[in-house]
Amino acid sequence: MQDSINIIVIGAGFAGLVAARNLGQRGYRVVVLEARDRVGGRTWFRELPDSGRKVELGGAWFDPSDQPQIREEAGRYDIDIAPATDYQSHRSFIGGAVREGAPDGFDAAMAEIARAARSLAAATPDDIRRHDVSIADWLSRLDISPTLRGYLYAQTSAMAGAAPDEHPMLAILQLVARRGDADSFALDDRRVFAAGTTSLAEAIAADVPGEIRLETPVSAIRQTADGVVVNTPAGTVTAPLCILAVPINVMADIAFDPPLEPARRAALAEGNACKVAKIWMLATGVPDRMTALGWDTPFCSLAAEGGSGGTQAVVGFALEGRIDANDANALEQALRVYAPEARVLSTTWHDWATDPWSRGGWMTEPPGWATSGVLDLLAQPHGRVLMAGADVATEFPGWIAGAIASGRAAAIEAERVLMAASVTT
Ligand SMILES: Cc1cc2nc3c(=O)[nH]c(=O)nc-3n(C[C@H](O)[C@H](O)[C@H](O)COP(=O)(O)OP(=O)(O)OC[C@H]3O[C@@H](n4cnc5c(N)ncnc54)[C@H](O)[C@@H]3O)c2cc1C
Repeated sequence: MQDSINIIVIGAGFAGLVAARNLGQRGYRVVVLEARDRVGGRTWFRELPDSGRKVELGGAWFDPSDQPQIREEAGRYDIDIAPATDYQSHRSFIGGAVREGAPDGFDAAMAEIARAARSLAAATPDDIRRHDVSIADWLSRLDISPTLRGYLYAQTSAMAGAAPDEHPMLAILQLVARRGDADSFALDDRRVFAAGTTSLAEAIAADVPGEIRLETPVSAIRQTADGVVVNTPAGTVTAPLCILAVPINVMADIAFDPPLEPARRAALAEGNACKVAKIWMLATGVPDRMTALGWDTPFCSLAAEGGSGGTQAVVGFALEGRIDANDANALEQALRVYAPEARVLSTTWHDWATDPWSRGGWMTEPPGWATSGVLDLLAQPHGRVLMAGADVATEFPGWIAGAIASGRAAAIEAERVLMAASVTT
């Protein structure tokens, strides 16, 4: 029966699931090969111990007014969308001191960033290249205090999941330009799935008219004159075409024959820079629905998501190497930087950076990738292997919405290739 498969989809995150569903529903015989024992990839809705609630260990927030893909997919399966937490207060910790609100000069710096973002519309390639430098380099051009610099480092690090020297300001400016203002870097209309991201991933998976083989990691993809041969521990699977919908940081673990081009291999070796830890804590003593940003402290960003009986689910983001996320005492100390009375009752997190099926968080390209063509190259097909996923998405890269958009685009391209092949054979 294997010979009758039209398309192999590798990866059952949002991109792979959407691609498989769309192709399956167009009448193509699809098989999805997924390494994990679940679908949803870098989204995962799980219990926060002792809290009676589930939390998002991976992707969570979106903006349905700006991201139509989310609205459409949720509508298709009657998945409820809920408002995200209505935050009540904000603290910052910079230079060893905690204070209410943002540091002085913040509004002026944001106005400068908004001006730069607006200028992108009429920018020359040289102008764009000047923005495609690290956030640290870009901010060094502004005449701002070390305190404000630290605060902007914290804010941009929380957005990128990477340190200020690892991510380009261009990506931040593009986001600000898209939103039309820089009052804050937060999503305008921040929402979540009421029953978690898992509810949508599972609804799409149930709608795939084909087999989804869990715990089936792909180790090699060989191309022949008329198709692809994909290796898994359970044997090989063959088809005329394959869609590879895995994170870029795990692609180098797959043996390609013919091999990927040297430039693509070099980019994969550098990889997605996002290695942040997203850590959930059930805590007391934290101001109700407080957010915080800080530099030179383990959590660059923190948000208390509300709760009951004096406890709250607090989510903290820590850059790579800043804290041992398995050490509850260290987490409590890090939380007390912002809320001195805090006590941590339980914690949970997932280490996406060392997870063999992600090796990183959301897509955060290194400086220079956009203007030197690396992002375009990573999205290119490799012969009969079409690329999909949030990491290579041209629309909303790095977001769940990007994964969905990329899965849809890959399905359209796969159908085009298959139809062209059927005309010529
Ligand atoms: C901590 C964190 C916070 C985030 N926050 C947000 C947010 O708030 N909002 C937002 O929109 N996005 C967020 N994201 C990003 C978002 O979750 C991802 O961009 C999106 O889910 C990626 O979908 P994908 O299908 O492209 O890839 P993935 O979800 O990674 O799916 C790829 C699948 O491929 C599988 N796979 C890998 N290797 C192999 C192999 N060799 N063989 C077979 N299968 C393989 C993986 O197991 C996985 O299931 C966050 C991500 C993380 C990690």
